[in-house]
Amino acid sequence: MKKIASLLLLVLALTAWKNPVAKKYDVLITHANIVNVVTGKIQPNQFIAISKGIIQQTGNMSTSISITALKIINVQNKYVMPGLWDNHVHFRGGEDLAQENKNFLPLYLAYGVTTVRDCGGDITNHLLQWRKEITDGTLAGPTIFTSGPKLDGDKPAWAGSIAVLNQKDVIKALDSLQSIPSDFVKIYDGSIQPDAYYAILKEAHQRGMKTTGHMPLTANILDAANLGLNGSEHLYYVLKSCSPKADSLSKLNMGYGVMSEIAESYDPALAEKVYKQLAKKEFFVTPTLYIGQILAHVATDDHSQDQLLPYIGKGIKATYAGRVASAKRAAKSASGDFHNKTEEVFSEMVKPMYDAGINILAGSDCGAFNSYTYPGEAIHGELKRLVKAGLTPTEALKTSFVNGPKFFDKSATYGSITKGKIADLLILDANPLVKIENIDQVNTVIAKGKVYPKSKLDKMLAAVKN
Ligand SMILES: [Zn+2]
Repeated sequence: MKKIASLLLLVLALTAWKNPVAKKYDVLITHANIVNVVTGKIQPNQFIAISKGIIQQTGNMSTSISITALKIINVQNKYVMPGLWDNHVHFRGGEDLAQENKNFLPLYLAYGVTTVRDCGGDITNHLLQWRKEITDGTLAGPTIFTSGPKLDGDKPAWAGSIAVLNQKDVIKALDSLQSIPSDFVKIYDGSIQPDAYYAILKEAHQRGMKTTGHMPLTANILDAANLGLNGSEHLYYVLKSCSPKADSLSKLNMGYGVMSEIAESYDPALAEKVYKQLAKKEFFVTPTLYIGQILAHVATDDHSQDQLLPYIGKGIKATYAGRVASAKRAAKSASGDFHNKTEEVFSEMVKPMYDAGINILAGSDCGAFNSYTYPGEAIHGELKRLVKAGLTPTEALKTSFVNGPKFFDKSATYGSITKGKIADLLILDANPLVKIENIDQVNTVIAKGKVYPKSKLDKMLAAVKN
């Protein structure tokens, strides 16, 4: 009772008292600098009222209203923006690593990530259980969208994937995903053949299921987009369409070995045309620049002192060895600088794609097997990379929490601090529009209306430290 009384006093002091009965909310944030990525400006001195996990009311502190709340948070001199979306993550590694994957959840929250898009793994059952508990409020973690198992060809590359070789398999696979239900279809190119690949796109499009992922190097991204493909993970497949040499090179059946040659023949004028065609299809591209850089140097960089390494479980740490070994092998071979050349071109592609109207998605690809890309920190790394590649901080932030919901047609419920939207918020000590690095200065995270001050986040992290 005492608390409410003091709240009333505060609001009285701030606003003209007109209504005899004040509205009472769960949480009231006062004196907020709201980060508005539509205008690219800060809206100073705002209040945000939250109840039942939803933003109920926003406005200027100087307007004449009376509001009370069970919990009041004065965020003077701080910056409030929607929570981050990491649009490409993985939960995987088998039953034995389920708990270690679960320990990723507090890491995401600690970095202000309130939503993740899981791009396929082999522990979907666990993921669905966590998702239920997070929704019920019994488990702390980000909102999870998941593809469920990946679709691939014969003898899939990743555990838990569904093999699709013909039309009958397509029907079975999509039926199975819909029964989960999965939120989108993730296709992988371990062995999938172009016919089966295109057949998945057609059938999924008819069913209204979103599709994204890798694609066979012998398939064409513009044909795929015309059949209904919604997005592309990583930049290989877009890059391929931007090289006049790509078709003849991919016929050599050398797999990704042709990528550096394709990168060298990248043609900006051709690219411009390709980007415009993809933009017309409202296409999404997840560049994953950050992990590209990590993997490009993983053979030589020393990660033993990484700040977040102690938060990664033993079993998941062990999965890092694979990529390190293959990078060391590659470093000794002629294709040693494959990564460096392609990564340079990848970075060059981002700004023209954005300007052409392609929906860029910020995604980190963090998770087991993807060495030294840590949940939470990696998406901060990706946003910084996107700015380095030429996006403004405003544009980079849009690729996270505006385009993320757009992919799922959920812009009405996420992506801005507006009445009626889910109360997923990140409160920072410094302005991210001035310097993208300021996203590291996490003060408080609010997920579905639940408040996690830095002290609480630190405690949650300590609990998963090895
Ligand atoms: Zn991935």
